Amino acid sequence: MTQFKIPENIIKVLDILEENGYEAYVVGGCVRDMCRGVTPHDYDVTTSALPEETKACFDGFRVIETGIKHGTVTVISDGDPVEITTYRTDGEYRDNRHPVSVSFTPKLELDLSRRDFTVNAMAYSPKRGIVDVFGGRDDLDAHVIRCVGEPDRRFGEDGLRILRALRFASCLDFNIDADTSESILKNKHLLENISAERVCAELFRLVTGKGAERILLSYEPVMRLIIPSAFAHDYSAAVCAVGASEPELILRLSLLFGSPDGASDLEKLKSDGASQRAVRAVTSLAQMKLTDRASIRRVLRRNGADLVARAIEMQYITGAIDENEKNRLVLILDEAKTDCVTPAMLAVGGADVMAMGVAEGKGVGEALEKLLELVITDAVPNDRDALLDALSRMKG
Ligand code: ATP
Ligand code: MG
Repeated sequence: MTQFKIPENIIKVLDILEENGYEAYVVGGCVRDMCRGVTPHDYDVTTSALPEETKACFDGFRVIETGIKHGTVTVISDGDPVEITTYRTDGEYRDNRHPVSVSFTPKLELDLSRRDFTVNAMAYSPKRGIVDVFGGRDDLDAHVIRCVGEPDRRFGEDGLRILRALRFASCLDFNIDADTSESILKNKHLLENISAERVCAELFRLVTGKGAERILLSYEPVMRLIIPSAFAHDYSAAVCAVGASEPELILRLSLLFGSPDGASDLEKLKSDGASQRAVRAVTSLAQMKLTDRASIRRVLRRNGADLVARAIEMQYITGAIDENEKNRLVLILDEAKTDCVTPAMLAVGGADVMAMGVAEGKGVGEALEKLLELVITDAVPNDRDALLDALSRMKG
């Protein structure tokens, strides 16, 4: 029997449920990951105990009624939250997303049958080993994402599964089974019923996956629906660039969209503001000529070094600059990180401008801007005496 190492606080939860006469397993993503030899980032527990029974088992623990209607109770075990969900089947679905009702069941197999893909439909108990009724392990070995049951029906129940399939195929670098794949393309319109935030979350993971290039190309019709702006330019070339880049979200989104207009798709998908701003910044910067120390210092004023670095990388990946030029710019950027790039970083201030009688009121800011330009272009060092000297010349 396969034995996996699982954390003590999870074993404790499973043991307590079992000691009380219920079945308890870890299930879903964590079993998939353990079978792949990857340490799971979290462990979900599934049990035959009804939610109220689960609560009663954990008398003395902190218990949170996370989603009691759907059978989920969170127990704090050794300081960490553990989600425990009662075996359940989903009733009819409405809106291609929400089951009208859920029913609890004493049968693990039924709980596993409501899960999306075979690789996500396995359970594991240290006592009883792996429960794999849909061939999840074989599909894992064969690197295949396959719906549990009939794909058209499963995607019809919940359209988000379409994007989940693409996301898992990209992140695990798996193929999608032929029937599942055909059904994805046929049912892509179901994504219209899915909330923008959920689509966005899956898209971000898909884009940073190992198999992103392959999936973005193979499922172009799906991508057309969710990121139409990426088709305003050469989509295939953009996807190829994504494949050639490090799996970093902002860089890859910037490559995919190619221009600041793409950020409007992110806005529609209700992505976080920081990602939208970053993609706008990187795509705009990548269209600029960053050739020397001064031009890099100028853009550093309004953009952090990380964004400028990504813009340089974007220029390189899209062929706008060659490797030598990239290395040269990266070196300049590195040195410029501590350089004076804002008026506040000058070795003189507004008080000096006024004390020297160079300007007053609005003119003070303008004078500082002039000094900054001298410093940025290396005409004058950012040194107090040198700047005072420059100020006295400005006065004259
Ligand atoms: P990860 O957490 O690494 O993204 P995961 O497989 O744990 O992957 P979750 O979204 O955390 O994914 O879901 C946990 C489990 O719940 C899945 O493994 C799957 O069995 C089931 N599941 C999640 N979402 C759906 C869905 N939309 N339809 C059917 N089953 C789902
Ligand atoms: Mg998970």
